Amino acid sequence: MAGSRLDPWLGSYASRARSMSASEIRSLFAVASRPEVVSLAGGMPFVQALSVDDIADSVAAMIRTKGAVALQYGSGQGDTTLREQIANEVVAPVGISAHPDDVVVTTGSQMALDLVVRVFCDPGDVVLVEAPSYVGALGVFRAYECDIVHVAMDEEGLSPNALEDAIAAVIASGRRPKLIYTIPSFHNPAGVTQGPLRRTQILEIANRHSILVLEDDPYGLLGFDGPYADGAAPRAMRADDSQGVVYLGSFSKTIASGLRVGWAIAPHGVREKLVLAAESAILCPSNFSQLTVSDYLATQPWTDQIKTFRELYRERRDALLESLEAMMPRGTSWTVPEGGFYSWVTLPEGLDSRAMLPRAVAALVAYVPGTGFFVDGTGTESLRLSYCYPEPDRIREGVRRLAGVVESELTLVNTFGSAGHHADSGQQTPSPDVA
Ligand code: PMP
Repeated sequence: MAGSRLDPWLGSYASRARSMSASEIRSLFAVASRPEVVSLAGGMPFVQALSVDDIADSVAAMIRTKGAVALQYGSGQGDTTLREQIANEVVAPVGISAHPDDVVVTTGSQMALDLVVRVFCDPGDVVLVEAPSYVGALGVFRAYECDIVHVAMDEEGLSPNALEDAIAAVIASGRRPKLIYTIPSFHNPAGVTQGPLRRTQILEIANRHSILVLEDDPYGLLGFDGPYADGAAPRAMRADDSQGVVYLGSFSKTIASGLRVGWAIAPHGVREKLVLAAESAILCPSNFSQLTVSDYLATQPWTDQIKTFRELYRERRDALLESLEAMMPRGTSWTVPEGGFYSWVTLPEGLDSRAMLPRAVAALVAYVPGTGFFVDGTGTESLRLSYCYPEPDRIREGVRRLAGVVESELTLVNTFGSAGHHADSGQQTPSPDVA
């Protein structure tokens, strides 16, 4: 294949790079980041709720006392003290008891996702993911040329029956799924949570078929109410199965996403491979960031800070749900998250969230169209709303604008039978700040 005037190397890319393309909705999101637009698109944590002075003090103390270590290369597996803190303290609320040796510190959990797929998946390997699933994970699976199969969810997340059916269909095609990728707690983007029985059922199915479970849990400590009131976190699948699950965690939502510190907890053999893969990708995660997190955990009231985050996000979730209830046209439905950042909205019949997005942005409100969370072009009737970043009043204003857009789309559909079409319905990958 030859190059083009815009990119003389077009013909030289590896086949895996062909599935990497920026979408046209990225340019819309560039507009959406303007201050007059209420963005319900971004999944950015509200880091303004942190005490910058406390962090500044602890970074200053850290660099004075441990500067030579913080500014140096470190271990590919991650800082020993931080791994101990993760294993002994941070994952205790989700019921995991792990040895610090089982922990691999990564540059955000996004990198852990990449490493797991790198060591497990050959091109064409089947991975089972929820329908819808996290865009950032879909991007990794696509980059490694996996065959991505969506499995239906219900109000309790991944459906065991649908999972059984999907596995049977893959086996009938002469293959075996490599991974089941799941976000059991406060799902991105669906906003739903698997109860304890659901988790046991999924583990049982995975074990019976010898399929590794990749449990992605960046939101587990951010529960608000229902069974997850007062800081009760959903019990991780890894807590009940140390050999069949690779667990991914992150400090992005509980401390700060800018530090880029996450981790994987994996069975011994897998852990070794992950470390080798990490070393070849980045040599080692940032010592500076790891020591910052480690000192923060040791010296700051981090569980109180998480409580502050939980209360803040609950207030915003309430603002979202109340205004959806008050303003959205009939025929619209949405999930009621008990934690995390997102609600998944289903539009009245005949509406297309992607075709509607330019009109929404023109009305100064943004969301992520449902198609971004599928690889097969489905999701047109849905969209994701994030309540993590805007203040409650802005959320209410955003929903008021969105309701107006949905109303006028409905009028169009009722008059002309369709509110407009878009040319291609393939996956549209938003940029990292909206992922
Ligand atoms: N998994 C899920 C489900 C997420 O929502 C995110 C962030 N949006 C990540 C992984 C990656 O987070 P990080 O790399 O910041 O830890």
